[in-house]
Amino acid sequence: MVKPTLAVIGSGIAGLSAAWLLKDKYQVTLFERHTKPGMGAYAVDVGNDGKRVEIDIPLRIITSGYYHELFKLYRTLGVEIERTDHAGAFFTHTGGDVFHYKNYNLGKYSFSFLNSPKRLSRTNVQHGMAAIKFFHDIKKVNLVDVQTLTFGEFLITWPHANTSFIGHILMPMLSTICTCDYDSIKQYPAAIIVDYLACGVAEEGVWKATHGVADIVAKITQGYDVKTHSQIADISSTDKEVKLLLTSGEDYTFDHVVIATQPQHAGPMIAANKPELSHHFEQIKFATSEMVVHRDSSIYPRPWQDISPVCYSVDLNQQRPMATVCLNKSMPTVKDCLPVFQTWHPTTTIEPNKILASVTFERPVMSFETVLHIKEIQESMQKKDNRIWFCGSYLGGGIPLLEAGVRSSLHVANQLGITTPW
Ligand SMILES: Cc1cc2nc3c(=O)[nH]c(=O)nc-3n(C[C@H](O)[C@H](O)[C@H](O)COP(=O)(O)OP(=O)(O)OC[C@H]3O[C@@H](n4cnc5c(N)ncnc54)[C@H](O)[C@@H]3O)c2cc1C
Repeated sequence: MVKPTLAVIGSGIAGLSAAWLLKDKYQVTLFERHTKPGMGAYAVDVGNDGKRVEIDIPLRIITSGYYHELFKLYRTLGVEIERTDHAGAFFTHTGGDVFHYKNYNLGKYSFSFLNSPKRLSRTNVQHGMAAIKFFHDIKKVNLVDVQTLTFGEFLITWPHANTSFIGHILMPMLSTICTCDYDSIKQYPAAIIVDYLACGVAEEGVWKATHGVADIVAKITQGYDVKTHSQIADISSTDKEVKLLLTSGEDYTFDHVVIATQPQHAGPMIAANKPELSHHFEQIKFATSEMVVHRDSSIYPRPWQDISPVCYSVDLNQQRPMATVCLNKSMPTVKDCLPVFQTWHPTTTIEPNKILASVTFERPVMSFETVLHIKEIQESMQKKDNRIWFCGSYLGGGIPLLEAGVRSSLHVANQLGITTPW
């Protein structure tokens, strides 16, 4: 039997997982504007002495307590995962000690505790106690009780919040996880952030795909066509078909299309055909930030042997921290390479001749206003004979992370008649 045709636009985790889920029932073609599938578009060789060692930008770390669907997808695809050390060291921007912790692994269990005895300062112990209490107490919060609060309002009203821990540690971590300003974190619906913080993120340690994004992409692109270097300019639909126009001038016709780009890119594609719906995409705010991979060790505090892999430099007068991961410490494959760092939001100058790659990212930011626009987008897909579908990490509920990307593609696949394969 001839399968109906379906186009997926965008090859981040949402588009790739949507195409992979839909390929058995539909004849799928995936379009990506980059020359490589988007999830693996930014990778850099950090090896030395002629040895090639590729790392992903960003690293894409995951935790088992939060990433339920992603873990199942990886298992189904046969993607191996391994622990990565993402323990944090927090400093003020002038180099003052704030807090250090280390991840200790015991078989399949991992727990975080204070770093070496050399770092048992009073401030460190106080922040450690506050962290233990915070992550213990947050699990008792009933999400229904906080569903009308922003995260900022929650912090003000929650009696367990320790001001110094919130300002110097929690907000810098959340700002890095959500890659946005502190003010944007405070505008997030409280339930989204509380749900994330209560999932065991502090006790479980973190994981990543052992062989990086290249391995995931190789496994998840089987069974359908991938057209890279293909940017979609316009999408129009009738009740019988959907027409795609590429910026190259080529056009294609499909039975269905799944738009799996970020909202700021989805809106313009449908602006001419569906102006009202396009408006909802335009209203979803996004934050821009820079990630630099480099060999400038002066950006990392010394002596670096004692310091946990992820180093936060926190200036309370700024809206974001600078966060630097020492890749040699956090990733087994990079252990023996020359010192190499990944810095998010550099606030000091990184020596230009030591920069290996620099990428600017955009990322949706959640707020109650955004949630209203998302509802409208979701309702547009409920209409009878709908042919234009949307997925992406902004539509999966929760923080726009890989997990939400997979949740959103599962949702679309289920609506298009696919039973979840796990
Ligand atoms: C610095 C940083 C660090 C992060 N770290 C983590 C992490 O450790 N763990 C984690 O879970 N998440 C992390 N995230 C979030 C995660 O990367 C995103 O949630 C995820 O990439 C979103 O996937 P997506 O498929 O929704 O969108 P995207 O990955 O943005 O994919 C959309 C794709 O659509 C393509 N596209 C856009 N317009 C067009 C067009 N007109 N035609 C064709 N193609 C188009 C784009 O090129 C892109 O490839 C991080 C994000 C950033 C910015």
